[in-house]
Amino acid sequence: NQERQRLVIGNWKMNGNLADNARLLGSVRESVAGAGACAVAVCVPFPYLSQAQAALSGSAVSWGAQDVSVHGSGAYTGEVSAAMLNDFACRWVLVGHSERRTYHAETNELVAQKAQVALNAGLTPVVCVGETLQQQEAGETAQVIASQLAPVLALGAQAVAKMVIAYEPVWAIGTGRTATPQQAQDVHALIRQSLSELGVAQVQVLYGGSVKGANAASLFAMPDIDGALVGGAALVAEEFLSIAAA
Ligand code: PEP
Repeated sequence: NQERQRLVIGNWKMNGNLADNARLLGSVRESVAGAGACAVAVCVPFPYLSQAQAALSGSAVSWGAQDVSVHGSGAYTGEVSAAMLNDFACRWVLVGHSERRTYHAETNELVAQKAQVALNAGLTPVVCVGETLQQQEAGETAQVIASQLAPVLALGAQAVAKMVIAYEPVWAIGTGRTATPQQAQDVHALIRQSLSELGVAQVQVLYGGSVKGANAASLFAMPDIDGALVGGAALVAEEFLSIAAA
């Protein structure tokens, strides 16, 4: 991959507090100087968007959220709209993270709707897909990814061209068990093929699942892996920065 920009996004999940965030954001801001070969971003819990904005404005690091409502406004207690994310100058929003799919019953259709709502607001959706261990063992990976992507691809080439896709095998998330570079590459190649069929070659496809400083370079050496979505390791500045350096 010569043309697609490298991208590393940290997903803090439900972690952090004002004091720890200040240190982490400060270290990341300081170390990511200027527009390097790899773009760096963090997706923080909603209450800390304001803190991320204040800490990262004017730096090379961008920020975003971990979810967005499909609704514009109104009686949706607990939901956060795309317009609200724009109030804090978010660039990114994760949609369809496996933890949202699992614990909040998000369907493939809802995830696609969220991606469209994000795009309508000028945000870049990072659409997460990935199979469970059971599905992988049953040899269903390709089929599962295709079903997850189908309603997203149905949004059309113009929409998909503005997205980022993250392949995150559920069995690799937070388990310390990373997909081998070849395992990840095989699925990335499938995703890349669906994107090519739609005529959108420039979409970045990130890998996520127990990425660390120690395994990042071998993953990034694969032709269809354009970067990483990083969970646990994104909470430790040195680890996160060493992934971005790789
Ligand atoms: C994630 O939550 O997107 C993720 C990849 O987590 P971890 O890096 O901790 O496996």
